[in-house]
Amino acid sequence: MREPEWTEQDRAEILALGLYRAGLCPLHGGPLSECTTPEESGAQFEADRSTCRARLALIEAQRAADDGKAPGPYAGARVWKLRKRG
Ligand SMILES: [Zn+2]
Repeated sequence: MREPEWTEQDRAEILALGLYRAGLCPLHGGPLSECTTPEESGAQFEADRSTCRARLALIEAQRAADDGKAPGPYAGARVWKLRKRG
C-alpha cells in the first residue's frame, strides 16, 4: 500500500503556516496586529537602511545585459541565477 503524501501532521503544519502567513503584513512582513494598530497606543517603529548585496549584484548584471539601456520587451522572460562566490 502506498504511503499518503501528506500526513495529518503535515496538514496541521501547513494549515498553521497558512494562518501565520495570513496574519503578516504584505508591506513589511511583520505581524499585521502590530503595524495596523493606532499610532498612539500601538507598537512604535523605526527604520534602518542596509543593502542586499546579492540583489545588488543581480541588478548590476541585469543592467549590464541591457548595456545601460531600458530593458527590451523580452527582458521579463530572462531567467537569472544568483550564486555565492567563494
Ligand atoms: Zn505592515
